[in-house]
Amino acid sequence: MFKDFLIRPKSYDDESHDGFLHRVASENHCTFQDALHVIFSEPGSCKTGQEGGDEAFDPIAFEFGKKLFNKHVWKKDFPKLFDLLTQKFCVKCLKERHYVRAIWDFRQYTSCHLHGVALINRCDNCHGSIDTASVINKHCRKCQSLLMDVTIEKSGNTRFAHEVNEVFNSTDKSMQEKLTILNSRIEQLHPYLRLVSDGSIKSLNDIRKADLARFSELQDVALALMDEPQEGSERLAKQISEKFSKSHPSVVFNPYREVINDSTAFQFAGVMKASLTSGHFEDAQNFISIDMISRLWQVDIDELTQAIDTVLPEIRQGQKRIKLGDFANNADSILKLCREANRDD
Ligand SMILES: [Zn+2]
Ligand SMILES: [Zn+2]
Repeated sequence: MFKDFLIRPKSYDDESHDGFLHRVASENHCTFQDALHVIFSEPGSCKTGQEGGDEAFDPIAFEFGKKLFNKHVWKKDFPKLFDLLTQKFCVKCLKERHYVRAIWDFRQYTSCHLHGVALINRCDNCHGSIDTASVINKHCRKCQSLLMDVTIEKSGNTRFAHEVNEVFNSTDKSMQEKLTILNSRIEQLHPYLRLVSDGSIKSLNDIRKADLARFSELQDVALALMDEPQEGSERLAKQISEKFSKSHPSVVFNPYREVINDSTAFQFAGVMKASLTSGHFEDAQNFISIDMISRLWQVDIDELTQAIDTVLPEIRQGQKRIKLGDFANNADSILKLCREANRDD
């Protein structure tokens, strides 16, 4: 296994498992596949992290008494947390010491918290995505240009990067606990990111793939909105009213479906409720479904329907939706009736 290599580099504490394996391969002038084969070939001795979970016998930990962070062990439990196909890097970190930092594996870690520059995930020469081998070998695998030379440094916003670093490198929690905290923070932040990218899922993903500096800016704005619910609901109301004139309501609310479907789990639900009853929609002629109101406000749909019929007789006419303007004007009394009905139960 590892002792079969002539060159056995020492791993760094903050090095990624993948990055270390690639470094072993590179320093021994063999391919990554060959390196894997040598390391994992001892019959019956070990399983890879992928197969065995966190506690699987890990030859690297065995050799050095160290456990490097291996995203493949955690990707099943936390599928949204990691970049699996591309390898981001901070060019300044690499110039200091040439190895892959584990923290770069976090998909939402988009700027280096130490250097304040945006991470790089594409070759500035051919614009292809970068893999771990390219970073270790310093050359873009696709166009062969020297990555460090073609890289254009852009400053990046680091508020979220600092958060990731604080949690990931805290010493009083298990890895499971740390990743759970990060995962939940990212889930909470997500609808705010949608809001600042105009509700579009596609454009958000495109930005993350193409321009991490820009993405880190959006993260900063989204984080600020989490602290300013009033501003968030104003912004959402503006977005909804702009889209309402040209799109079907389901298209308008679709980006926030996860919040509507599980409104007690998301801080953003408060922003949605505040925006829909903020006075921006008093004249809105578009429809909102009763189902959505019931989910968002967590009230029973039958009681809600009854309350609407009591407060606004003949408005609904048997439909499962009402005009947003009618709801916005009467939300207080409708919801109050629902709550009273609930108390009588
Ligand atoms: Zn750095
Ligand atoms: Zn290239």
